[in-house]
Amino acid sequence: MAKLDWITEELKELKEKGLYVTIRKLESAQGPWVVVDGKKVLNMCSNNYLGLAAHPKIKEAAIRAILDYGVGAGAVRTIAGTMELHVELEEKLAKFKKREAAILFQSGYNANLGAISALIKKNEDAVFVSEELNHASIIDGMRLSGAPKVIYKHLDMEDLKKRLEEVKDKKKKLIVTDGVFSMDGDLAPLPEIAELAEQYDAMVYVDDAHGEGVLGEHGRGIVDHFKLHDRIDFEMGTLSKAFGVIGGYVAGPEEAIDYLRQRGRPFLFSSAVNPPDVAAAIAAVEILQKSDELVQKLWDNTRFLQNSLRELGYDLGNTKHPITPVMLYDEKRAQEFSRILYEEYNIFAQAIVYPTVPKGTARIRLEPSAAHSKEDLQYAIDAFEEIGKKMKFI
Ligand SMILES: *Cc1c(COP(=O)(O)O)cnc(C)c1O
Repeated sequence: MAKLDWITEELKELKEKGLYVTIRKLESAQGPWVVVDGKKVLNMCSNNYLGLAAHPKIKEAAIRAILDYGVGAGAVRTIAGTMELHVELEEKLAKFKKREAAILFQSGYNANLGAISALIKKNEDAVFVSEELNHASIIDGMRLSGAPKVIYKHLDMEDLKKRLEEVKDKKKKLIVTDGVFSMDGDLAPLPEIAELAEQYDAMVYVDDAHGEGVLGEHGRGIVDHFKLHDRIDFEMGTLSKAFGVIGGYVAGPEEAIDYLRQRGRPFLFSSAVNPPDVAAAIAAVEILQKSDELVQKLWDNTRFLQNSLRELGYDLGNTKHPITPVMLYDEKRAQEFSRILYEEYNIFAQAIVYPTVPKGTARIRLEPSAAHSKEDLQYAIDAFEEIGKKMKFI
């Protein structure tokens, strides 16, 4: 099959450059400890922040929904795929986020693709104003739109102002940003962004994938954290991280959400989320609505892990979030650190290297969860102390 030889070449090149991703296989439920390759390892790299992915109440809700509604949704939302469960989840999400309405998509990726491409279109007097480190799904949403974009520097409000000044005569402007940046755990300065947006009459769209279930009261997200509900137009969220299930959504003004139901392409052209997933997501929202116990536990664990690592002498950058980048700088040494963690200490934690982060800023990214015990975290901290001393990082 000579016509497929290019694939062999490309794979070879990825491997030579150290960019080929080895995909590990979990042989157990998602949780603080997981079985990988027959070995029980401490899981320090999942986005299951609250431990909801295998929570008994959520599993029960999914099972009940299968018995009542079956497994498949059967169609796209606009034809025959909207069940009462979908509408209930949308209403509960809107209430949880303190917004007028919400629209459910199949994933966070789809939510960004659908909403962003519908809000700014190619053949109109309009522009995206996009943060430099935005998630790939935002970038793909802008690509699907095909409208022009200007990019402002990471967290740099002077630069945002400059870019807005450049495009101030455009009729429609959408500032689009991640709320929490997933490689560093730093936060978008939303109050300043809202201020500039008002000054330049721009809409604002925030991707709250890592803020949900983590920031704000009861984990309502970054907009609630900054108390900006009436000043940020669109909040996109995912149900796959803290909520532990699958799905994505956009919350905002009623009429704008109604518009997205008419124009969001993944909503129109890809089948609805399946009933057990929707029911599981409803149960997750209900748990958070009722109690902030898991959110408090997550933050308690985060403070414990981050304070201990800082005391050991590690640089954790500018994180304001459970995302904990342990800065090791050198790519090879970070890979080596991660390998030792896994092979000698049974700790599953990813090394994050160029091109995901800039050269010379390699790190191990740890993500504590509410499901970890203090003993679990102490075990990881002890490993970081031993390996760090051996490798002369601390
Ligand atoms: C994970 C993530 C998404 C995609 O969400 P999924 O529900 O996994 O598709 C979008 N944006 C950001 C910032 C994310 O971290």
